[in-house]
Amino acid sequence: MKKTKEQVFEHAHAGKLWAGNLIEGYQNSGVKLENRTPIDDSLIGFIADGQAEDVHAAVLVARSTFNSGSWQGLSPLERKQVMLRWASLIEFHSEELAALDCLDAGKPITECLNTDMPATVDTFYWYAEALDKMFGKVAPTSQNELGLIVHEPIGVVGAVLPWNFPAQMFAWKVAPALAVGNSVIVKPAELTSLSAYRMVELAYEAGVPKGALSLICGLGENAGEAIGRHVDIDIVSFTGSTEVGRLLLKYSAESNLKEIVLECGGKSPQVVFADADLDAAVPHIMAAAFWNMSENCSCGSRLIVHESVREKLLDKLVAAATKWKVGNPMDESISIGPMVEKVHFEKVKSFIELSLSEGAKLVTGGKIFSELGSGWYIEPTIFDNVTPDMSIFQNEVFGPLLAVSTFSTDEEAIELANNTHYSLAASFYSQNIHRVMNVARRINAGTVSVNGFSEGNITTPFGGFKQSGFGGKDNGLEAFEQYTQTKVIWIIHH
Ligand code: NAD
Repeated sequence: MKKTKEQVFEHAHAGKLWAGNLIEGYQNSGVKLENRTPIDDSLIGFIADGQAEDVHAAVLVARSTFNSGSWQGLSPLERKQVMLRWASLIEFHSEELAALDCLDAGKPITECLNTDMPATVDTFYWYAEALDKMFGKVAPTSQNELGLIVHEPIGVVGAVLPWNFPAQMFAWKVAPALAVGNSVIVKPAELTSLSAYRMVELAYEAGVPKGALSLICGLGENAGEAIGRHVDIDIVSFTGSTEVGRLLLKYSAESNLKEIVLECGGKSPQVVFADADLDAAVPHIMAAAFWNMSENCSCGSRLIVHESVREKLLDKLVAAATKWKVGNPMDESISIGPMVEKVHFEKVKSFIELSLSEGAKLVTGGKIFSELGSGWYIEPTIFDNVTPDMSIFQNEVFGPLLAVSTFSTDEEAIELANNTHYSLAASFYSQNIHRVMNVARRINAGTVSVNGFSEGNITTPFGGFKQSGFGGKDNGLEAFEQYTQTKVIWIIHH
């Protein structure tokens, strides 16, 4: 039955929301962790505290399902029909899933309803529709040979997810991995397991064999590390911090050399040239900087502006910032909810103090709403006079702090934009086509958007260079490359 967001909020209030491990035929130990919402730090339920033995049980069923062919052995058309059913169930239950993400991550309910869930549903439909349109190749050979280049599912996929876009990140990984026939074991972030649990239940309802998709909830250092180290997992696809990404590479090296795909952090630049249309740019700059409380890997957290338009642009941004209302994210008028947890809130807060002590100038914001709910609410904050040696220029804050620096030549702008060890996304603003062509090529980022902030959409690959990414891309048909291996079948006839 369809649940409204009000019904979900009521369940949360009663502390009744639950996300357990879902592993075919296996009862987990029953140990659980408290689940508190960042909205007011109240207890909304529990999640399973998955351990290495749970991961091992999931791998056993994933492998035997893969070997049995009950999922990968279906015709593409049959798998597509199941995936389409799953997509439509997720669409049908969108309001419930949106409310779960709002509670778990403190994301504004309007964004969960109008942005995250439509994008999640679209991802499922898109990969369902794409899966039976993938072709292999025939090699150019002499007449007595036939060389086939085929793409096969890899086997058992581990997907380790972050907390910032819970439903959407689940879709980005699980939809393409499962569509091509793999068995998937998914571990959501411990802070945000509720929508993942519900989507796996819906997968079973749609007809995905239970052994082809398991859910393990729990902590990164237990369930996450066990996935990273398991010798019978063939690939781990991860989205999260660069720090944990590095660990996964290490676990792979120390276990079975499983493939590792990493989508990690960012410190994305937004460059505003003197010829930019400032009024058109402002809403995009604000969204890039503050959307989703800036808990966004492609957050445009560095504003690099030509010195001649700096003052004018800052005035416009300060005026725009007043319209970003901070408050309870269950309220539909709110654009900024709380930071996802206390530890993270303290980290963001410390960057405000550090930026001031390093000489950055506070232009607007900086206020913490300690009287509101959990007290982890921070308003959009802009620092000017930021130089590349400052922490706020180099480090991913993952909170609503925008660092402003100025430049005088195009060369200087490009040098500043590229001056971090991340390279995930970038945006820039100019009306000069020659500058657009030049700068788009020279900014080093996986996605460069011009005259607007965008991550592309499901049709385009997403992922970063340098320490923002490794080994493959999410989204687009490119995601299928992550989850398939290329085999050559060489037939000789006499
Ligand atoms: P995180 O690295 O702390 O956690 C991500 C996942 O890794 C969680 O499921 C966690 O339980 C697990 N994990 C933690 N320790 C582990 C360990 N030792 N072994 C195995 N798994 C472990 O990241 P987060 O705080 O959840 O998410 C924020 C980060 O994600 C940011 O850095 C952000 O930029 C990044 N991110 C990147 C993208 C992208 O596509 N590039 C998208 C969203 C978020």
